[in-house]
Amino acid sequence: RQAAFQALRDQPSRTRDGVDIKLMLNAGLAIDLESMDATGADGIGLFRTEFQFLVSDTLPKMEAQIDLYREVLDHAGSRPVHFRTLDLGGDKLLPNATDQFEENPALGWRSIRFALDRPGLFRRQLRALVRAADGGPLSVMFPMVTIAEEFFEAKALLLDEIEWSKQRGFAEPIELRVGAMLEAPAFAYGLEDVAGEVDFISVGTNDLLQFFHAADRMVPRVSERYDLVSRPVMRFLEFTLNECNRLGIPVSVCGEVASRPVEALCLLGLGFRTLSMPAAGIGPVKRMLRSLDLGAFSEALKTAVHTSNGEFRNEVLAIAELQKIVLTDS
Ligand code: PEP
Ligand code: MG
Repeated sequence: RQAAFQALRDQPSRTRDGVDIKLMLNAGLAIDLESMDATGADGIGLFRTEFQFLVSDTLPKMEAQIDLYREVLDHAGSRPVHFRTLDLGGDKLLPNATDQFEENPALGWRSIRFALDRPGLFRRQLRALVRAADGGPLSVMFPMVTIAEEFFEAKALLLDEIEWSKQRGFAEPIELRVGAMLEAPAFAYGLEDVAGEVDFISVGTNDLLQFFHAADRMVPRVSERYDLVSRPVMRFLEFTLNECNRLGIPVSVCGEVASRPVEALCLLGLGFRTLSMPAAGIGPVKRMLRSLDLGAFSEALKTAVHTSNGEFRNEVLAIAELQKIVLTDS
């Protein structure tokens, strides 16, 4: 199995009808970097910076943050890396971060909300990112943005840090890209408020699906509801994609589901062209898309989403079988 995917590594990530797809990696620690070469990923679509904090007993100093980000950028070379700023809280809590019990931590004081309330910690990280870029390109995205104001506040802090570094003789990034993760459904309806200010959107399906279906991703008894391959999710993502296209905002998907061939197939069918996923998904997804006539599949998918009403996953599987799309994930 490994050998089969190895052989695929250097093959282009292109559908049968000639559409190029970017397959990127979700990563979080230096140890993940090897996977970039092993899989032939086009870059890192999601670098989870909080992992460095979670595996450490003490808060990582700014120097340690700079070292890690540099290592990532050096390893990536010309391949893009999207650093996701600290996504703490919820299921990723630092010891002593809060003394308030929360009934629903996934909906609580977490992610960009936590970061904006801890500006010392957040600014130090932004400064470390600027320093690590060392005058090269820098791409940063903020997690779980729900309202436009959070994005503006976080972006202003980043721009401040760039200015601060410049005044102290450090180089500013030659090219800066500032993105936001769409994980809260509300933000799909706030995209026009950030248009012109946001450089890209990354749809985080792990959190998005739990909020969308009102089904906690940590509770096994409701996990069946937690499904991307459903008409409501397809319609929501179609709306989101249309909004991004209308507003001229590049959009991609990160999240574990993009690593499953059926889920990835649906995302491509809707119109996404960049998927970021765990390393193990890249081979199976590449094999799937190289067997895919995307034009034909998209048409059939749209019909399944909008005009038929059978069990949706079964319909997708039936279309895939008819169109001889290879869906095995091993
Ligand atoms: C997501 O929610 O889809 C995501 C990529 O972020 P995380 O899994 O780290 O919450
Ligand atoms: Mg998330």
